[in-house]
Amino acid sequence: MIVTYSRNVFIPLTRSCRNKCWYCGFRVENVDLMDKESIKKLLERAKSAKEALFTFGEKPEQVHPELKEKLRTLGYPSLLDYVVEMNKLAINLGFLPHTNAGVLEKDELMKLKPFNASLGLMLEQAVELDCHSESPGKKPEVRIRTIRNAGKLRIPFTTGILIGIGETEYDRAYSLEVIAELHREFGHIQEVIIQNFKAKKGTKMENFPEPSLEEMLKTVKLARQILPKDVAIQIPPNLVEDIYPFLKAGANDLGGISEVTPDYINPEARWPSIDQIEKSLRGEFVLRERLPVYPKFVKLKLFGSAVSELIEVYSDDDGYCRS
Ligand code: SF4
Repeated sequence: MIVTYSRNVFIPLTRSCRNKCWYCGFRVENVDLMDKESIKKLLERAKSAKEALFTFGEKPEQVHPELKEKLRTLGYPSLLDYVVEMNKLAINLGFLPHTNAGVLEKDELMKLKPFNASLGLMLEQAVELDCHSESPGKKPEVRIRTIRNAGKLRIPFTTGILIGIGETEYDRAYSLEVIAELHREFGHIQEVIIQNFKAKKGTKMENFPEPSLEEMLKTVKLARQILPKDVAIQIPPNLVEDIYPFLKAGANDLGGISEVTPDYINPEARWPSIDQIEKSLRGEFVLRERLPVYPKFVKLKLFGSAVSELIEVYSDDDGYCRS
């Protein structure tokens, strides 16, 4: 069986965020914005990566009017205009952008679509939870609307669920059913991340128990039963001790792995090297590098028009990354 991964560079465009998720160690209170020069330097260091993963706090301008002002001074009417410019910068340097910008309206998705290989938004859980009580963007209906609109726009999409944040087993199954239903309707979900909650010091949930290995394996098995077969199941290799039991349980993707940047959401968890991953496969699985858009969507040419030339160069006949 094939197990895929993508070589990426992680760009934390801004850590400012309108939400206050109780488990988050990424968000900062102040106004934060990565400048163009720093992004360029980061990209230039990541020569072997194909994917530029843009990730950031959600709609920070809503709580930081100063950020709006700052962007205007730099010549950008909105944060999204800045993101598009940084997407273009990445493309010009040979990278395929994948942007995870939090909840977006249809017109905002349309703005990002041409300059991205794919887009993403974690559903997390399709039910209301206490840890999201200060996070307007984590209302399930708001997130489902974004994923649905991406489907209407035929954007290859990454989503996922976060395990161990106060949800029940029933909630997990329900959340996976919601994703499966969206995919059955639009066919645009390329992968579903099954991510384990990791307690962060200084957060409201620093003493909250993390999900056990058994719970995680059970959820991966459940995901494989519920999700259509053409949707990959991703397990973050830096957040679990050994990927092998997860692959046996049905996971078949390891997500983005960076040689130059940490996982800014879980900075304490280092990426394993490709050699370490190869060893964990115990000779039972074949590791293949993919692009941030999955082979199926490469063949269907469902990616942003501005990345088509790069994808032509980077992809092989099967839609994987050319070796
Ligand atoms: S988890 Fe994401 S949405 Fe929630 S506070 Fe942190 S950056 Fe914002």
